[in-house]
Amino acid sequence: MRGFLSVFAYSRRALKLVWTTNPTLTFSLACLTLAAGVLPAGVAYVGATIVDAVLSAIHLGGTELSQRFVIERVAFEATLVALLSGVQRGISLSQSLLRAQLGQRVNVMILEKALTLQLTQFEDSEFYDKLTRARREASQRPLSLVMRSFGLLQNLVSLFSFAALLLQFSVWALVILLGAGLPAFIAETKFSGDAFRLFRWRSPETRMQLYLESVIAREDHAKEVKLFGLGPRLLERYQQIFRKLYQEDRALTLRRDTWGFFLGLIGTVALYGAYAWIALCTIASRITLGQMTMYLMLFRQGQAAVSASLSAVGGLYEDNLYLSTLYEFLETPVILPAGRLKQGLTPHEGIQFEHVTFTYPGATEPTLSDINLHIHPGQSLALVGENGSGKTTLIKLLTRLYTPSSGRILLDGTDLQDWDETALRQRIGVIFQDFTRYQLTLGENIGVGDVRHFDNEQRWRAAAHQGMADSVIENLPAGYQTQLGKWFNDGRELSGGQWQKIALARAFMRSDADILVLDEPTAAMDAGAEAQIFDHFRTLTKERIAILISHRFSTVRMADHIIVINHGRIIEHGNHSELMQLNGHYAHLFSLQAKGYQ
Ligand code: ADP
Repeated sequence: MRGFLSVFAYSRRALKLVWTTNPTLTFSLACLTLAAGVLPAGVAYVGATIVDAVLSAIHLGGTELSQRFVIERVAFEATLVALLSGVQRGISLSQSLLRAQLGQRVNVMILEKALTLQLTQFEDSEFYDKLTRARREASQRPLSLVMRSFGLLQNLVSLFSFAALLLQFSVWALVILLGAGLPAFIAETKFSGDAFRLFRWRSPETRMQLYLESVIAREDHAKEVKLFGLGPRLLERYQQIFRKLYQEDRALTLRRDTWGFFLGLIGTVALYGAYAWIALCTIASRITLGQMTMYLMLFRQGQAAVSASLSAVGGLYEDNLYLSTLYEFLETPVILPAGRLKQGLTPHEGIQFEHVTFTYPGATEPTLSDINLHIHPGQSLALVGENGSGKTTLIKLLTRLYTPSSGRILLDGTDLQDWDETALRQRIGVIFQDFTRYQLTLGENIGVGDVRHFDNEQRWRAAAHQGMADSVIENLPAGYQTQLGKWFNDGRELSGGQWQKIALARAFMRSDADILVLDEPTAAMDAGAEAQIFDHFRTLTKERIAILISHRFSTVRMADHIIVINHGRIIEHGNHSELMQLNGHYAHLFSLQAKGYQ
């Protein structure tokens, strides 16, 4: 029982959430619900007085006075019924308005929370499940919970008013009324719990389904899916998952409904038992005909109210279970960056890595081990190494997307962890190889490089010029206002190389950043263009630090300092001629590539 009750812990929070979303609507909803609770008993009561008034009118030989009395009663009942239907409309109106506002509010809460999360959390599949579950189910639940609470209240009010009238007949009638619904309720609650557990267990499968949907139905995947003829294969897998889930669902639904039917029979038997009893009492003249109609109606409606209340409790239980997933997600601890410093202890010191080691969560081997390096302002650095050697990871550490497992990274003599988030972000401009192609206008695609100037056209122009993206824009009729991507009307798709130019321009939006990082964003350009861009990049970044990851030695050789990473360790470092003299790994790779060009 305690376990059962503890599940309702979220009710209070959901009520508060709804209340704070719109107090006026919530208050009217509560008042209307109360009214809707009392009115039916009133209707039943007036109904009984009509029957009795008719009987006494017949008895009196149909005098005008007695006729008027009957008509007045009928008119009164009609008014009550009209009022009731008005109240019900009002309830559904407030509900739909509240539903829209609340749905938006909960979605915003989920998205706001997502913004505070760490990159590592996004990469954690269990965590990702929480997010999916919260988004899929939980956003509808707070309102559902509140509606059910109000529904419960309404039914309880009705029930109390029915009970007050029924008690005049017999206390046993009340006992039968309340007892008959219980078995069905207990079964229903158990099945709600089962359904919820199914929902939770299934998260990985549901995630796979969502993923398959996106691969099959999204434009960015369409090319490969078509060419590889992957469609039917993926669709089959999608169907397979459905079949498995469907079987489990079917088993549960069958059990739920079979039990529901048999336990529901108890209610029917109770109703008709009471019917017979009331009829016999009328024959024995213990109650009037009017009272008989009233008690029957009370009993019938009372039973409906009991089962509605019980199923509302069951529903509340279910809503609470699902809400737990929302709150579980919203309460995920966020590691707030503690750093406050807006300036380093020793300005112009550049970047230092001191014995930095990093292991991805869940990995057994470190991806980077004992990295030491020092880059001074005005220097350019190139990172060289095979795919998977850890170059991008190093950049992610430098940008504080991840925290080193041991060792530390200093910027201007201060540990990155002590830097204020915003100050740090403003210092560093990065373009990753998998930069995002936003389905926004071209100008905004450049503007994302510095949100403070997100829609500043002048800044776009300057950045586009520095990123050598002018030529891309000149060829587009709508220029900076061109909608990119295919999701929206008139969206233009750019070539890989054109996109890279836009991405480069993005890097130059951050004109006050003194560390610029290019992680292979030029791979889709030809070698000449890449070298030209890097050269340009270096001259533009005189007092800045330029870091480049590239597989092209023609570009790499231009860097002041080159480090060669292999299996997460720095195996060689120096400038081009030093490394050639060393005649090691770098020299080997360099001559291999040079041979290819001969
Ligand atoms: P590079 O940029 O040199 O090609 P990366 O730094 O991207 O290499 O990757 C280095 C290693 O770290 C690879 O073995 C890769 O499998 C692993 N790795 C990269 N990203 C992640 C991640 N988000 N989670 C776990 N492992 C990762």
